[in-house]
Amino acid sequence: MYDIERFDENIRPILEAAKKDQEMIDYRLYGTPSLVHTLNELGMLPTRNFQTGIFDGAEKIGGEHMREKLVSRDSACFTCGVACGKVSSIRYGREAVVTEGPEYETIYALGSNCGISNIHSIAVSDYVCDKMGMDTMTTGNVIAFLMECHERSLLKDRLQDFKVRFRRVCEGSGDH
Ligand code: SF4
Repeated sequence: MYDIERFDENIRPILEAAKKDQEMIDYRLYGTPSLVHTLNELGMLPTRNFQTGIFDGAEKIGGEHMREKLVSRDSACFTCGVACGKVSSIRYGREAVVTEGPEYETIYALGSNCGISNIHSIAVSDYVCDKMGMDTMTTGNVIAFLMECHERSLLKDRLQDFKVRFRRVCEGSGDH
């Protein structure tokens, strides 16, 4: 950098102001999942294969609920003072595992877009996708597409037997 001291001098007040800004504080606390509420209020949260932008289970998959139920610590990209990243502790079968995220995009794709309002189930799906090297947005959106096809009886033969339906998983099996 041409003048690192001057850069440092100019960036400091910006960082100090950011630390006190409520939106930045919320973003640090809840990360990208904080978008769930905002987009739901705007009618823009992808829901049931993009059939609507309002999800009645949004509160249960938003940043605040996720922080309360899953997040074990924050994480940050190199030198970033915001630290919007989240690391979650989940149960995968009988194992207790630690996973990154889930981020907003994963939450909508594997969650609201599939009609699922269980943040733990979304985090487990995220973990499985990561393990298998699958992109969570693509996976969730393909499943959501299949769910709508199933509901409209558009799937043929064995595919229709899979009974992929929009629904909330694990209801009644915990308070996630
Ligand atoms: S640099 Fe990384 S930790 Fe910082 S706000 Fe961006 S994504 Fe979040």
